[in-house]
Amino acid sequence: MSHSQAWIDRGLAHVATTYGRYPLVAASGEGCWLTDIDGKKYLDFLAGVAVNNLGHCHPKIVEAIQDQAATLLHCSNFYHIPQQIELAELLCQHSFGDRVFFCNSGAEANEAALKLVRKYSLDKFGDDRYEIITAENSFHGRTIATISATNQEKISSGFGPLLPGFKYVPFGNIDAIKAAIGPKTCAIMLEPVQGEGGINVPPAGYLKAVRELCDQKELLLVFDEVQVGLGRTGTLFAYQHDDVEPDIMTLAKALAAGPPIGAMVAREKYAAALPPGTHGSTFGGNPLLAAAGVAAMKVFVEGDILAKSVTTGDYLREKLGELQAKYTFVTQVRGRGLMVGMELSIEGAEIVKKALDRGLLINCTAGKVLRFVPPLIITPHEIDQMVKILNTIFSELQTGE
Ligand SMILES: *Cc1c(COP(=O)(O)O)cnc(C)c1O
Repeated sequence: MSHSQAWIDRGLAHVATTYGRYPLVAASGEGCWLTDIDGKKYLDFLAGVAVNNLGHCHPKIVEAIQDQAATLLHCSNFYHIPQQIELAELLCQHSFGDRVFFCNSGAEANEAALKLVRKYSLDKFGDDRYEIITAENSFHGRTIATISATNQEKISSGFGPLLPGFKYVPFGNIDAIKAAIGPKTCAIMLEPVQGEGGINVPPAGYLKAVRELCDQKELLLVFDEVQVGLGRTGTLFAYQHDDVEPDIMTLAKALAAGPPIGAMVAREKYAAALPPGTHGSTFGGNPLLAAAGVAAMKVFVEGDILAKSVTTGDYLREKLGELQAKYTFVTQVRGRGLMVGMELSIEGAEIVKKALDRGLLINCTAGKVLRFVPPLIITPHEIDQMVKILNTIFSELQTGE
């Protein structure tokens, strides 16, 4: 029996059954490659679901963690934490934001945003203004509040009653938002590009029109940048493509390029609605994770990694477009930067399994959309290697092998 199988059997016995896992036992990673416990190497176009944006074990992140681990691991938010302060400064310097609340995940960042928009609106308009408009096929996390915000039956089914106060509109349709706004509406929360919902890029001008609506109606605009933020779409934050700024932005996944940290970035005017005692997190912005976040942010903003990722993103879409031209079951290639989706007319699950066998990690979201979110350091050569594997799998499918 391989080492892998022994671990898989042990995992199946005692780890929660919440994930349908592929038969890969992760051992180590370097750059764009993940190695399993038996030594097999995989080209990683999933990057821990858009987390390892700097590749596996980026030396700057590893060094920051090692140094910080030997100095101070954890310290309560009852005290001031230099690494957290530095990370907040970096995030504000490079965004619209003035203040940052730190937490540990995307769902928690969104929870903070949901609490903030309600609290601000209560303070300003009274308790009858609490409704939040979100998009169909959105994804905002797995807590009760965030599955309530996420209007997807497959995610919320079985966990009712959900939190009241959400209205759902089709993504990309400004008229639908106009029609949904009522006297109780306090905020609109959107992903600038939908991730789990199938890599959906909104029509040009949509986010700007939403911003204008929010200004007219005094609504807060929240962008969930948990997946699209930190360089994924070729700019540090996805909203920067659209010449709009939100009032609140949530971050997590790639914020420390591996370690778990989340953040809610807000304008001063709104952040003031959460004075001492109104919200908190024991681990939020702890020294170890914030140190990793500072190291990651410096790599994102100081080098040419973002500019390069734009070029490699174009190359990736071009190469996937060539596969589309060749195979009838590929219906569309879309995305922005290195966040790319390939829509199929067939289910993608089987392709993901075949890719794994051939040493390629991708996943399938929304049933029929193959998702490509490699580390931003992916090279054209590695893209060629990936496309070659996909081409082999596709040609087998085409001929029905
Ligand atoms: C992954 C994701 C979340 C949830 O993040 P967790 O860290 O898993 O809680 C929220 N919003 C978006 C857009 C995401 O992609």
